[in-house]
Amino acid sequence: MRTTDTDEINKRRQRAREESFVITNTDARHPIFSNFRVKSASGLTYSVEIRDLRDRQSACDCVDFRTNGLALCKHLKPSCFILKPAIKSFSNPRRRPDRTALR
Ligand SMILES: [Zn+2]
Repeated sequence: MRTTDTDEINKRRQRAREESFVITNTDARHPIFSNFRVKSASGLTYSVEIRDLRDRQSACDCVDFRTNGLALCKHLKPSCFILKPAIKSFSNPRRRPDRTALR
């Protein structure tokens, strides 16, 4: 039986949640669009590139990423989790004025 892309993506999300990764931004000047080192629990380190807020513009150098055709792997997801707060403020620059000032 063939698994769907969604199944495959969910599998990787699941693995990303279950394993712990140590993620290091290799260039602190670029908090989001940068290169990251992702060290997995097995001790292997992968290079992850975040080039866009969507996964499809990002890359990892692991075998899974290169062969699965999903533009996703378990290393990219945790990188995105880590970056989420930064991405949120980045993608929403025109926040409503702070209402606490209008007391
Ligand atoms: Zn990977």
